[in-house]
Amino acid sequence: MPASPSSTPTGEKTALPALRPAVQESPDYPFTHHDAPVKLDQNEAPDDFPAELKEEVFDLLRAEPWHRYPDMHAERLRAEIARLEGWAELGVVVTPGSNVLIHALADAAGIGGAVVTVSPAFSLYGLAGKLLAEDLRQVPLGPDFALPVAGLIEALSVGSGVLYLAEPHAPTGALHANADLRAVIDAAGDRWVVVLDEAYAQFSGADLSEFYSRPNVARLKTFSKAWALGGARLGYLLAAPELASAVRKLVLPFNVSSFALAAGQVAVKHAGLMTERVQNVVSERERVHSRLVDLPAWHAYPSFANFHLIRTPDAAQAWRLLLDRGVLVRRQDSLPGLAGCIRVSVGNREDNDRFLQAAAEVSAIQAG
Ligand SMILES: *Cc1c(COP(=O)(O)O)cnc(C)c1O
Repeated sequence: MPASPSSTPTGEKTALPALRPAVQESPDYPFTHHDAPVKLDQNEAPDDFPAELKEEVFDLLRAEPWHRYPDMHAERLRAEIARLEGWAELGVVVTPGSNVLIHALADAAGIGGAVVTVSPAFSLYGLAGKLLAEDLRQVPLGPDFALPVAGLIEALSVGSGVLYLAEPHAPTGALHANADLRAVIDAAGDRWVVVLDEAYAQFSGADLSEFYSRPNVARLKTFSKAWALGGARLGYLLAAPELASAVRKLVLPFNVSSFALAAGQVAVKHAGLMTERVQNVVSERERVHSRLVDLPAWHAYPSFANFHLIRTPDAAQAWRLLLDRGVLVRRQDSLPGLAGCIRVSVGNREDNDRFLQAAAEVSAIQAG
């Protein structure tokens, strides 16, 4: 039920009528913390950032003057990222997590305009649309989570603003064909900023480089998944310098702390370690998938990311029965088209074995 401008989503009267209705009416980010021995609910890296690398971060931080502001635009880390990515330094914007960039891009191009994305999608795109844009257009994915090319082209035919696409897609784990993406990105022309969210790109093997040099394409990358630095809050944008400098105005100066910057610097210095760990996750993903497809009553979709989306007969029951067995996963069944679905991160071998054991029991119960 839509709330009236003077009440909260739960219908209470708000004490702050000064707040914009869009802010009052927007739901909170849907996440509740739970503890469990096997934590597979947030698509984090299965293993911690290595202890010897933490020591390197501590060494950097000991030498850093804490009473001084950090680099204004993370210049030192930005240079390292530019080298790693083979990208112009001025085309890199570093932020406390890439989520900040989702909002910054809506700030840059969505206010007074539109936000276009698919449905289901990462919930922050819709939230940015609701909070900041005048018009939110969510185009349903096709069968097997195909990119709805015609629907997107239609949605992009009127107005201007931001288009958000995650490749691989979240939360389905699907990867869309470059030809489909090309048709959509061509249709966006220069009236839309096209955001390619590459949070899971390292796990996919896809090559989207044909889109990178377009002046209106912004790529988002994060240290939260492949890099095992979810706690550091660090992400970045890669775009043409002109678009990047516009976004830089909106993320505010000094927005990344010295602590996060130190962690990022050490991570990038040891990029080979990240690549190695990604390979392990990918081979575990394939091992887990080959077991999931044999389970009764469950359907595991193919994944190009570090998680599996699984359709069960009853997501609430599957979630509870898995948690009873020590395995925490994430429900996705409140998203459009994802009735019965849960999302499960790919963990390390031991965690995956515990999940597979629990999954065998729970799917058998659900098969009845
Ligand atoms: C995890 C995730 C991110 C990363 O967000 P951070 O703020 O960098 O932690 C971005 N996009 C999608 C689709 C994600 O799943």
